Amino acid sequence: MATSPAPANPDERSLRSRLGVWIDQDLCTGDGLCTDHAPQVFVLLEDGIAYCAEDGKVFNDPGGSAELAMVPNSLETEVIDAAAECPGECIFIEFLEAPELEA
Ligand code: SF4
Repeated sequence: MATSPAPANPDERSLRSRLGVWIDQDLCTGDGLCTDHAPQVFVLLEDGIAYCAEDGKVFNDPGGSAELAMVPNSLETEVIDAAAECPGECIFIEFLEAPELEA
């Protein structure tokens, strides 16, 4: 897996994304359905639980709502579909204000 770090500047991140996503690992069944939809955003680790990832960095420390992964614009539909079909109902999407959309 790639190890490039997530952009440190939140403004820089929001310029290329308007969706953030996180998983409540306490509810995850580990079936892997989300990774079928968007393997760039959802990753199953050795503990059998799914975590979010951004630019190849997996947010598993501590995971949960403490680590919001920005969703690439090209994967928004896949992430929304994954959340809708997640059997644990534990994928949470946050809609963010992107500076370029503000007028
Ligand atoms: S689809 Fe939901 S329950 Fe299944 S592995 Fe992904 S986050 Fe966990």
